[in-house]
Amino acid sequence: MNGLLFEPEREGDLKVLKEKILACRQCELSQTRNHVIFGEGNYKAPLMIIGEAPGRDEDIQGRPFVGKSGQLLDKILEACGFTRQQHVFISNIVKCRPPDNRVPSPAEASICMPWLINQIELINPGLMILLGSTALKYMAGPDYKITRDRGKWISCQGRLTMPVYHPAALLRDPSLKRDTWEDFKKIVWKYREMYDSQHYSAHV
Ligand code: SF4
Repeated sequence: MNGLLFEPEREGDLKVLKEKILACRQCELSQTRNHVIFGEGNYKAPLMIIGEAPGRDEDIQGRPFVGKSGQLLDKILEACGFTRQQHVFISNIVKCRPPDNRVPSPAEASICMPWLINQIELINPGLMILLGSTALKYMAGPDYKITRDRGKWISCQGRLTMPVYHPAALLRDPSLKRDTWEDFKKIVWKYREMYDSQHYSAHV
């Protein structure tokens, strides 16, 4: 099947998947949520960003990464020359907010993650970014550590994947910003290598 025939089907499949996810009540997080956060971005994005879970702002607005962490993520993406609309699709390990922004439990993650794996398969990104230790542990395995493994390319779901600090960690400890920027520079270089050698960034 050629690309032209395949692309609309992929988008259609994602719309069907979205309807199913928005109606999901498979775990107890459904009882306290206001919105299910499907994710946001280009349905054919070359780069998928995976965070931990929606927070308060996301639960209210129904969009991923819209609070202070999201604003910082947008700044980093902008510095890389990436936009939410064109280059990335942003999602989370769990799609509903855990009460008090606690870390999703292993049971909640294991119930919800098949949705995320479905998204990855349909969007089919060549590159993935894991934001923070929770996304790293649930996606790559419990032996990974964000402080040790950030900035290194690993394989996850058969894709080149870069773990980086979560933007919330950068807000708590601004000294982590320097390392994080080095990690994102590697992502821009890899994106140029794999997708667009002319990709413009004013800073990389
Ligand atoms: S967190 Fe995931 S599994 Fe639980 S209700 Fe929400 S969408 Fe369904």
